[in-house]
Amino acid sequence: MAEAGTLHDAFIDELRDAYDAEKQLIKALPKMAKAASSPALRSAFESHLKETQGQVVRLEKAFASLDEKVRGKHCDGIEGIIEEGKSVMEEEFDEVTMDACLIAAGQRAEHYEIAAYGTLVAWAKAMGHHEAAELLEETLNEEKAADEKLTALAEAGINQAAADIAHPEEKEVKAGASRKRSSAKSR
Ligand code: ZN
Ligand code: FE
Ligand code: FE
Repeated sequence: MAEAGTLHDAFIDELRDAYDAEKQLIKALPKMAKAASSPALRSAFESHLKETQGQVVRLEKAFASLDEKVRGKHCDGIEGIIEEGKSVMEEEFDEVTMDACLIAAGQRAEHYEIAAYGTLVAWAKAMGHHEAAELLEETLNEEKAADEKLTALAEAGINQAAADIAHPEEKEVKAGASRKRSSAKSR
């Protein structure tokens, strides 16, 4: 029987997985930016693309700090998430609905990365790989900020605008109800 792998082996494996995932995202993010109608959403994807390029460099430094060759290993998880995003982009949606869907797709990717980097940071710290831990934590924080940015954009109007298109009658009812309330108050 082959010798059992250690947590260090699993860690290097996950680093290679993350490296490949970032490379896949570098190809996917420009397409998401292009598909976005909201200028703020488009620039969020564009600026996260630049951050992602920096994350690749950070992973290269992490490999070097561990005396490991820089190598990727195909990440099936992010491939699936990107594939789902591609199918959404092929749908016929109005602009704001597409933006809401692009945010949803982007957040799936960010949450996947947050999970991956969260584990990588914890494992690096547990094994005393301080330099790698620091590099990975910087990236983890960028992923969290990217996720929060997407939440903020959704909540700043994109979701509601899309919901109003989906349910125009409910928007009228709501407006009517608040008119009723304010006229009751004025009486
Ligand atoms: Zn180790
Ligand atoms: Fe990333
Ligand atoms: Fe990311």
